[in-house]
Amino acid sequence: MLPRNFTEEQTMFRDAYRKFLTSEIVPHMERWREAGIVDREAFRRAGEQGFLMVWPEEKYGGMGDEDFRFEQVIIEEAAYARVGDWYSTLHSRLVGPYFTRFGSEEQCERFLPKCVSGECILAVAMTEPDAGSDLAGMRSTAREAGDHWVLNGSKTYISNGINADAVIVAAKTDPDNNPHHMTLFIVERGMEGFERGRNLKKMGMKAQDTAELFFNDVRIPKANVLGEPGKGFIYLMEGLAEERLIGACGYLASAQLSWDLTYDYVRERKAFGKPLAAFQNTQFKLAEVRTELDIAQSYVDQCVAAFNAGQLTAVDAAKAKLVTSELQVKAADVGVQLHGGAGYMDEYAISRQYTDARIATIYAGSSEVMKIIISRDCLADDYTPFNTRNF
Ligand SMILES: Cc1cc2nc3c(=O)[nH]c(=O)nc-3n(C[C@H](O)[C@H](O)[C@H](O)COP(=O)(O)OP(=O)(O)OC[C@H]3O[C@@H](n4cnc5c(N)ncnc54)[C@H](O)[C@@H]3O)c2cc1C
Repeated sequence: MLPRNFTEEQTMFRDAYRKFLTSEIVPHMERWREAGIVDREAFRRAGEQGFLMVWPEEKYGGMGDEDFRFEQVIIEEAAYARVGDWYSTLHSRLVGPYFTRFGSEEQCERFLPKCVSGECILAVAMTEPDAGSDLAGMRSTAREAGDHWVLNGSKTYISNGINADAVIVAAKTDPDNNPHHMTLFIVERGMEGFERGRNLKKMGMKAQDTAELFFNDVRIPKANVLGEPGKGFIYLMEGLAEERLIGACGYLASAQLSWDLTYDYVRERKAFGKPLAAFQNTQFKLAEVRTELDIAQSYVDQCVAAFNAGQLTAVDAAKAKLVTSELQVKAADVGVQLHGGAGYMDEYAISRQYTDARIATIYAGSSEVMKIIISRDCLADDYTPFNTRNF
């Protein structure tokens, strides 16, 4: 694998986060998986030790270092520790930046310090029972009524849906029904008419609460409108490059772990008088996945560098999401196959790697949606042929 460029500070941060996971998260995971939800206390603990939201400015309680590699470390370590369903990054880096990107100073002051400390847990709610990939098909609506808005509708599959104290909710706000005219609202725990439905039972990622949310005539003060009314769809699209980069780091780290688990297993397990690792099929499978992992890692690290430089495009992030999510599924699948029957047993780690992986190619934009984005770009009339580019 090519060298990776983490700073000394980031390497120390990695060691510290690994220790945090070992002492504060790993021991509770089985209980949380059975409960279908992580204790709120986990967010507090992470907040206390400076691992929850590292990027906000010091005045909001963060480290003030926007280098994405800190989050990459957090994402990777969670995957390596097999606690990817302690998905703190959703709170920290997927939803948190909505406040600084689109919110007012007053909103940042009101929410960010509590988010950094873990007192206020965040979620983002776009998906509805009838609208997932096609967000413009959503039915939730909000109408202006004097000094507030009135929100109606429902959302589903919302991560942190039960734990969340503040949910960024997208709703249509154009009385003339322009499907892209949406507004983002900060809906807070306890607002009248805001109710939670079931914490949904899932194939994998079991400790992550994924829930239904209902909004019945919820009065939202204007101070809780995020950014400009009507621009919600554009805001959601703007966040997607970062969201897909976050995803890519996690999918790849999980794939790396599947490879390691498989490598250990095939050297131990014997069949026909020799280790599984001695069969050429095993060697070729491991070589194939190892190569794809190393190539993908270089691309993802380049994407992180581009993101830090403000140069990551939505299309390049889509490529990272597509390749890494497919690779997460493949690495887990190859791993289960090479584990034989053991791979189907809960007591072997590869089994959960497989069920946890399956969502990767679906959420945060399915593989098909990624291909639409990429093909639109590379088949566009103004596509620049590779051999005419200046690098
Ligand atoms: C565990 C989990 C956590 C989630 N967390 C959140 C969250 O926090 N917030 C949130 O808002 N949402 C969340 N989601 C929702 C998730 O983003 C959606 O499930 C996803 O966008 C797909 O939408 P859908 O399920 O409605 O599938 P659909 O849109 O019905 O698509 C089904 C399938 O059809 C195919 N397809 C769709 N469109 C096309 C097309 N144009 N061309 C070709 N094929 C196509 C794809 O194979 C796709 O997988 C979560 C989902 C899960 C399972």
